[in-house]
Amino acid sequence: MSISSSPILNRRLNIAQLFSHKHCVLCQAPNHQDICNACLQDLPGLPPVHCPSCLLPMTSPEICGTCLRNPPAWSHIRAALRYTFPADALVQALKYRSDLPLAPILAGLLLGRFRDDPLPDYLIPVPLHPARLRERGFNQALEISRHLCRQTGVELLSAACTRIRSTPSQTELPWKNRPQNVRNAFTCNRNFSGKRVAIVDDVMTSGATLNELAKVIRRHGATDVRAWVIARAFPGAPAAKRATDLPGNDETKRPIKP
Ligand SMILES: [Zn+2]
Ligand SMILES: [Zn+2]
Repeated sequence: MSISSSPILNRRLNIAQLFSHKHCVLCQAPNHQDICNACLQDLPGLPPVHCPSCLLPMTSPEICGTCLRNPPAWSHIRAALRYTFPADALVQALKYRSDLPLAPILAGLLLGRFRDDPLPDYLIPVPLHPARLRERGFNQALEISRHLCRQTGVELLSAACTRIRSTPSQTELPWKNRPQNVRNAFTCNRNFSGKRVAIVDDVMTSGATLNELAKVIRRHGATDVRAWVIARAFPGAPAAKRATDLPGNDETKRPIKP
């Protein structure tokens, strides 16, 4: 069954469209959707020509040199957005400002872009280390996954994999050091033999974290591991703006768009 043929998703969309009176989370215009059509069209998309394995911009749609030398452990990757403004502000507002109502909106963007994809058997959010989870209070990948599962009917496995090593944040490290930083960071307590699994995260930067988790899930028998991320960050991209640039924050009661 594909995402678009999920009866749960279609029923929810129809009911929401009939009764909702909302404001666009990006420009605050009254709207029946969470993000108005104009803002949706302005959201930063993936490079039109990219490596199919890692989404890196390319001049022709071929597998890039990095992926040829070190093929990732996932079989397919999906990302809804490029991690630049305002996609980065949305993700950061969820993650650092605990703006949890953004989780279903970001999940909806991902599903909306890949409606014909086959559904996996399980969805596994990239786990946070317990210490990081205590500090943040929630795992943004789990919050996004909850909505992906609610909307598709795919089973959520939130405790099948755990992060057993507390590693420095990947964002503080050069890209070349990131695979080493997350090596042996995860463990799984479940046999995935014959199963198709999608792993979910908010942002993919070097891909080292997702790759390490995908490897462990494959070692536990999964026949297919897909990576689903809300946004893909690329090297050299402009620094992310602050989550406070989103409307609705007390410091900045202004819409993002002029
Ligand atoms: Zn808008
Ligand atoms: Zn690549």
